[in-house]
Parts: sequence; C-alpha cells; structure tokens
Amino acid sequence: MTTSDRARGKSRRAPAVARERAPRPATRAAAPAAATGPARPERSEAEEAVRTLIRWAGDDPDREGLLDTPARVVRSYEEFFSGYSIDPADILARTFSEVEGYDEMIVMNGIRFESHCEHHMVPIIGKAHIGYLPDRRVVGISKLARLVEVYAKRLQIQEKMTVQIADTLQNVLQPKGVAVVIEATHQCMTTRGVHKPGSALVTSRMLGAFRDDPSTRREFLGMVALGANGGPRHR
Ligand SMILES: [Zn+2]
Repeated sequence: MTTSDRARGKSRRAPAVARERAPRPATRAAAPAAATGPARPERSEAEEAVRTLIRWAGDDPDREGLLDTPARVVRSYEEFFSGYSIDPADILARTFSEVEGYDEMIVMNGIRFESHCEHHMVPIIGKAHIGYLPDRRVVGISKLARLVEVYAKRLQIQEKMTVQIADTLQNVLQPKGVAVVIEATHQCMTTRGVHKPGSALVTSRMLGAFRDDPSTRREFLGMVALGANGGPRHR
C-alpha cells in the first residue's frame, strides 16, 4: 500500500470501499469469495508456485533446507486464508433475546487479529474494537471475535475489513448501531518500502446511533480508550 493510499484511508468512508459494496446486497457481499472466485488450483500447483518464488528470491528449492518448504508454505496458507471458506453471516446466526431488557452499549475491546495485505501479501497485525447498541437481540461475545477472524483470514486492506465487519454486524444482527475501530501495523510499511516501524493505521466505521449521536460515539471511544489504558480486561 502506498503512502497516499494510507492517507486516504483516514477518512471515515473510503469511496472505493463504499462503491464496492453498493451494487450488491449485504448477504451476497458476506458470502465466501471462494464460492464465486476462480477455480482453486491443486495443492501440487500451489507448491510448484512456491518453488518458483524461491528461485525468484535467488535460492535453490532443491537444497535440503528448502525441500519441505513449499508444502509448509501451502499449509500455512490454509491457515492464513481460512476465512474464505466461512460465511460471516452464519457466525452471527444464533442470537439471544433473553437479556432482561439490557439496552446499553456492548463493547468488545482489543480483539487481536492477524491478516495479510492484499497488495504485498505480508502481515497486517492489529486490534479491533467493536461496539453495538442492541435492539432486543444480542450475540455471544465470542462471535464478535470470530467475525473479526473470518475477515482477517483473507487478503485484505484495513479499510475494507473495517467496513465488512461493521456492515455484517449491522445487517445480520440489526442493532440500533454499530461501531468498529481497527488499529494495525502493516508489515508492507514497517519491513519494506518506506520502513516506518511504529506507525499504526487507524480506521473506523460508525453506523446508526454511533454515527448520528455524538454522545453515543463518545461513550464508545471512551470505552475503547479505557481498554487501551489497561482498564477492566481479564487477559
Ligand atoms: Zn501492503
């Protein structure tokens, strides 16, 4: 990702992202990309591609230390990109309505994730903070972490991931509002290119009450800051 990409990403709604999701209904946008994407190659083809990249790096894929590397890399890819085979909407399908009238904000702070940037295929490592204002239904808290995981385990840009998480939560759970803040470091910026370790990109998406009501938004951001300052977290 270039520096100008990054600067644009700071606006709350990146036009490219908004354009991308506009023509498709949310349920289709949330469907696994593998269902509609190009045919998946054989494992042996993927391993051969890794051998090619090793040669491209300047080494010999037939030397002893590298013999098993293509198989390992391909297995790693199965883990890094496992999110394509999961429909995010399914994760939120089970909800609870017996909440004794609980109608305050629910915030899950500091959900760590590992993703890969779609421009360089190197890690993006960060934390997601998710809040929503329930409308009678709540979802199990582990599901919020799972939702982040499913979108993280794909090729991503942080701006798109922020929108995907927020919109899926809004569309499936239909709460009164959703807030998502993501802060992450991009290894394409820290280990190559402009080499700027320590810089983090922060993106956010506010929907419903979080967009319309400044006090709701403030309350959420205050709770996110509380977590960041070592507030009531049990980890
Ligand atoms: Zn990148």
